[in-house]
Amino acid sequence: MNLTVRVQNKLHVCIMVLAFLHFFVISAAVCCAQESEVRLASNVIPAAGFSYVESGKKSDSKFAMHGSDSTWPIRFTQDQFSIYSTVSLLTLEPHLAALRTLPNELREALQIEVAESPVHIVVLSDRESLDQYAKKILPNAPSRQALYIRHRGPGLVLTYFHKNWIRDVRHECTHALMDASGMSLPVWQDEGLAEYFETVGGKPLRHPSHLKSVQQQIRFGQIVDLQTIETTEIQEGLDGKGYRDAWSVVAFLLHSSAETRAAYQLYLKEHQTKRAAGLLSHRVRDAQIDWRSQFAAFYRNTRF
Ligand SMILES: [Zn+2]
Repeated sequence: MNLTVRVQNKLHVCIMVLAFLHFFVISAAVCCAQESEVRLASNVIPAAGFSYVESGKKSDSKFAMHGSDSTWPIRFTQDQFSIYSTVSLLTLEPHLAALRTLPNELREALQIEVAESPVHIVVLSDRESLDQYAKKILPNAPSRQALYIRHRGPGLVLTYFHKNWIRDVRHECTHALMDASGMSLPVWQDEGLAEYFETVGGKPLRHPSHLKSVQQQIRFGQIVDLQTIETTEIQEGLDGKGYRDAWSVVAFLLHSSAETRAAYQLYLKEHQTKRAAGLLSHRVRDAQIDWRSQFAAFYRNTRF
């Protein structure tokens, strides 16, 4: 059996892993701007649950993911997040509040049920260690800054520590939480939400790179066309502009007005309850939202 990995050039990677009985067939989707497809040979995993992530290596030491004899130097739980780290607690601690609040931020902003199921987060000390660890799961996995891996058990987020680590974790955990909550959204929306929630400090509109770019686009009369995004087949993931556009749509809908927010929340709720949600652009049209003028005005006039 083959393992398919869709590679996206964004630094985040989203991987989906399906597990069957004692053997696991992995099908993976990795997001990245330079889209390429990697086909990996099938992988037989020796045990159930996350034990398939049997060990990570750092300097010649092995780190088991589970078990009483766990050799992870740091292992602790913050609400539903279980953290396995080779980085000290002292280093991680200042960032943990911004992780703990994430599920409630999703609940409040999106008005959806957010599952309380566990999410496992691996934190390694450097990119090289992450690459090595990721390859334990996906031998041909491309080198990326962070990854989310899904299977029928808990979601698994792989990261390494750097100054913007918490953004990576919040981005990938947003994928994990949405996934665990039964949200099956189009890729561009999934990424738009992850980009929206990755920003820390309670100011999701102040995305460090997207906001200025979107405002500049507006000055040049370039307005994201919702219908085009929605009807464009995304086979290989988003490019950099795709992530920016997706963020700008989510941010606009959640903050422009009570009407845009309500229309989007209803759309998400219908996705979660598996009712036919239809196209978001139709929902916007039905709510009598003048997309072009309101979208432009929002980014032109709002004081962020
Ligand atoms: Zn992502």
